[in-house]
Amino acid sequence: MKIICIGRNYVEHIEELGNERPEHPIIFMKPDTSLLKNNEPFYHPDFSDSIHYEVEVLIKIKKEGKSIQKEFTKDYYDEIGLGIDFTARDWQAKAKEKGHPWEIAKAFNGSAPISHFVPKGNRDMTNINFSLERNGQEVQNGNTSLMLWPIDEIISYISKFILLKTGDIIFTGTPKGVGPIAIGDRLAGFLENEKMFDFEVK
Ligand code: ZN
Repeated sequence: MKIICIGRNYVEHIEELGNERPEHPIIFMKPDTSLLKNNEPFYHPDFSDSIHYEVEVLIKIKKEGKSIQKEFTKDYYDEIGLGIDFTARDWQAKAKEKGHPWEIAKAFNGSAPISHFVPKGNRDMTNINFSLERNGQEVQNGNTSLMLWPIDEIISYISKFILLKTGDIIFTGTPKGVGPIAIGDRLAGFLENEKMFDFEVK
């Protein structure tokens, strides 16, 4: 399986990092070794003093698809989840400055904690509330209505370039409020009012 992530998909997050609004969705990938499941603790790496949380809605692909038209994307997933796109902001800043790829800042071990998946059901995918608490305080909350590229456009765009396969996971971008973590933190994520994950930083 592969993990495909969307960058800069929420206007206020683009602004908080002083980035430009992209012309197309920005995509990058994480390897399967970045996955953390079942509320396993995240071990803070020693190569960075600036690991940031980015809470994001996840889509799990249920069948193979390429060049999927927007109106058919709903046939390619029926489960959603919540995850964190951990980012070594210091390494990312250095890479951006030099125009280098971001991989080192995004793809390290444990950089993709994910929740269990829940049925999409009849949800309106353009109106899903989600949030992140750090040590019991809400630090991020978003709604998928604030996406620059909604989920159907994301799936359609990715599938033009990359064959989507069963089990692939898409991270759909983070809303505003990203910030650093520290050892000892507890991070809990919510999709609507359902707690989806709750794990420690060690
Ligand atoms: Zn992200």
